[in-house]
Amino acid sequence: MVKEIDFSKVPTPCYLLDERLLIKNLSTLRGLTERTGCRILLAQKSFAMFYEYPLIKKYLHGTTASGLFEAKLGYEEMGGEVHIFSPAYLDHEFDEILQICDHIVFNSFAQWRRFKDRVKQGPRPISCGLRVNPEYSEQEHGIYDPAAPGSRLGVTLANFEPELLEGIEGLHFHTLCEQNSDVLARTLKVFDEKFGTFMKGMKWLNLGGGHHITRPDYDLATLEKFLHFAREKYGVQVYLEPGEAVVLNCGYLVARVLDFVHNGLDIAILDTSAACHMPDVLEMPYRPQIIGSGLPGDFPYTYRLGGPTCLAGDIIGDYSFPQPLKAGDPLVFCDMAHYTMVKNNTFNGIKLPSIGVFNDRDGLKIIKEFGYYDFKNRLS
Ligand SMILES: *Cc1c(COP(=O)(O)O)cnc(C)c1O
Repeated sequence: MVKEIDFSKVPTPCYLLDERLLIKNLSTLRGLTERTGCRILLAQKSFAMFYEYPLIKKYLHGTTASGLFEAKLGYEEMGGEVHIFSPAYLDHEFDEILQICDHIVFNSFAQWRRFKDRVKQGPRPISCGLRVNPEYSEQEHGIYDPAAPGSRLGVTLANFEPELLEGIEGLHFHTLCEQNSDVLARTLKVFDEKFGTFMKGMKWLNLGGGHHITRPDYDLATLEKFLHFAREKYGVQVYLEPGEAVVLNCGYLVARVLDFVHNGLDIAILDTSAACHMPDVLEMPYRPQIIGSGLPGDFPYTYRLGGPTCLAGDIIGDYSFPQPLKAGDPLVFCDMAHYTMVKNNTFNGIKLPSIGVFNDRDGLKIIKEFGYYDFKNRLS
């Protein structure tokens, strides 16, 4: 039986993952693997709620990491393939990376030169790759654009040193952000023009993340066409490493109204903070959806929603509701699984939201709660 979540029963603030929606996304990704042979990794940078890794492992091939700690988490909690990319590896971390990673992607030929002998002499076979920068992107968010002028991420064609490719088994590019497959198609064309000749003799091509595969309007057919194209043209294993798409629309942040202030407009103070618990709302910036709310004026009662910190700009946005809000009312923010738990902080000593899951068998389960010591332990 499909159960409805009773959000009024959720202790707040709480990130709540709906496992039924996660399985739906994972099934879409699994179908893609079955039809195209591509392998899909979870980019842990976006979502690292490892309680769900045993479930995710049934559908995906493994994890990718932005550094040693994420790699360890993927290795310990999911298993499968462990891939890593870092703009620059640390000498003292590299031995541990060699023990747990299956693919290591280097950001420059200098990094490759620096570490390649250690890979060769390492304890196990590792497939090494290079991140390239096709210097092509179609996105408007400057801080999320690794192909922007002056980017430090990936080797540009001008810096490419084909004579150093011996031992390199794959190329990697990551330039998309929340984009559809038409953008991938155009990026792949540029990649092919610039770097296609270097794919000769390689074993894999990694197309990075930023593919919004599980969004309702995503054009899967075009993605599949280009996954086949890449596989056949270069004769390689193709990888995708989405983060956001794995948990898109699978989670909520449940919060409560604490109090009200009036200063030219009605302001509600919540027990959740944009700055601490959903930093992308300020950084990106974007306006999260709240169940049962509308734009200012859509419904009779409009409020500005703010957090419990002393940051003046800790504002989530202006929302309207059909009924006046009351202290204690729950508010349910949608699509809060990605780039939230992994990015939150204890600024102002604000408590971190609990982490909960919901499924039809067990209903609501709170799997982790945080307290004063999570704040204190990060300081000294
Ligand atoms: C951020 C990132 C990803 C995941 O991106 P999403 O937008 O969450 O899909 C994958 N690979 C690399 C190298 C990244 O930096």
